[in-house]
Amino acid sequence: MNTIQTIKLSQVVSDFLKEEKKLFINGEFVSSTDGKTFHTLNPANNEVLADIHEASEKDIDRAVQAAKNAFENGPWSTMTPLERGDLIYKLALLIEEHKQYIAEIDSLDNGKPMSELLENDLPNAIGQFKYFSGWASKLVGQHIPVNGNFLNYTRHEPIGVVGQIIPWNFPFMMAAWKIAPALATGCTVVLKPAEQTPLSALYLAKLIQEAGFPKGVINIVNGHGENTGSALVKHPSVDKIAFTGSTEVGKIIMKEAANTMKRVTLELGGKSPNIVLDDANVEKAANGVFAGIMYNQGEVCSAGSRAYVHSSIYDEFMERLVSLTKDVKLGSGLQSGNTMGSLVSQEQKDQVMNYIELGKAEGAKLICGGKALDQGCFVEPTIFADVKDDMRISKEEIFGPVLVVSKVESEQEALERANNSAYGLGAGIWTQNITRAHNMANRLKSGSVWINCYNATDPASPFGGYKNSGFGREMGSYALENYTEVKSIWVSLD
Ligand code: ADP
Repeated sequence: MNTIQTIKLSQVVSDFLKEEKKLFINGEFVSSTDGKTFHTLNPANNEVLADIHEASEKDIDRAVQAAKNAFENGPWSTMTPLERGDLIYKLALLIEEHKQYIAEIDSLDNGKPMSELLENDLPNAIGQFKYFSGWASKLVGQHIPVNGNFLNYTRHEPIGVVGQIIPWNFPFMMAAWKIAPALATGCTVVLKPAEQTPLSALYLAKLIQEAGFPKGVINIVNGHGENTGSALVKHPSVDKIAFTGSTEVGKIIMKEAANTMKRVTLELGGKSPNIVLDDANVEKAANGVFAGIMYNQGEVCSAGSRAYVHSSIYDEFMERLVSLTKDVKLGSGLQSGNTMGSLVSQEQKDQVMNYIELGKAEGAKLICGGKALDQGCFVEPTIFADVKDDMRISKEEIFGPVLVVSKVESEQEALERANNSAYGLGAGIWTQNITRAHNMANRLKSGSVWINCYNATDPASPFGGYKNSGFGREMGSYALENYTEVKSIWVSLD
């Protein structure tokens, strides 16, 4: 294990880190009104990376007023859809140009490996802006053949000012998932990044300036959830909240939003099952289940954190799984060759370690991993076997590199146990029988089902949850519904 940074940061990133980290409101970087700041840390060594201006209630009001003005009176409101699309595409190209810098910033701030950022987070984020730029000019309503002598048609209008609150596990990519569809529909945005990872969104703000978006269309305000986030949810001029984060906070937001009748979409936690049937290609299944939980240190809402494995292939599967886990190179995300980085924070490390201790106390069998490193927020990839469905490690979201495995005797048992969860975000099925796979996919209660793959996403395909995993779908044409109101217009032809 080596947490020492051996790569030299780009000059651009070194310079960026030295700049003052202000709020981005109405197209400008401004200081917080009360001068409050907070630290963001590098979780690989717990050193301070930068001081970040924290948005107070007053600052939220400034940002929301800027977004409201841009929505109602600014050039954004009269731009043609093609012009809006062009701007969004321009931003995609700028991100592409700066992707190495953004990757370094997110790796520093979040702890994840550069390879994952350059192969997944950044291409995915760029893809969101490219994909949604095309939608700006394709938002069509319907012409409806109604009774009587009327012309009736619908318009899909932007909701207005959108408050977007995102988590720390994919800092830049989550910002893209949120901002791109909102812009395509013509909304304006106030985005609050997670307090653990505030940096890359501020870099994005610089690119937003460079792309030439009108003032106030996108505002980026950092701060803690209970202050800054809550002020955004309460603000009467915010028309909609789009949130990704924990189910616990999702419930708070949903309740609070009711007071002002805000539209809400929530992408929340998960405890997603991966089912390996007796006819699976065991090698592919082991690789897929491994990546499904260990990718991004397990800090993925759709992580395949429960595995149900048929008894007839169980031993071979476990042997392969353990060997993959032992090959993990844990260390600084900035050092090439490391395949797993640190967790995002000391708090997250403590949470994951508490669950590991709990799993042992509950009587699950620790197969490998289970330890934290002294330096930084690193936790070994960990596998528990002989896990019972009523154990807390099988029911609750751990949000770390911890897999719980259970042996099953039939497809029906696997299905019932997979569905026996408060969550419903993702599910995986490993089988070579396509009929079985489709039948099972229909019966799994989750927003995504992956057959012989796991965690595949694309800007064109919807993603979201059943049950306690939330509601509303991100990406694809479905995401446009999150940001539009439908108006029915009647014209008498008499
Ligand atoms: P996690 O537990 O994974 O850190 P959270 O759900 O606490 O996830 O945080 C996700 C996002 O929600 C962060 O941007 C955080 O600041 C924000 N947040 C937390 N609490 C609140 C709240 N009460 N109101 C609004 N936003 C909040």
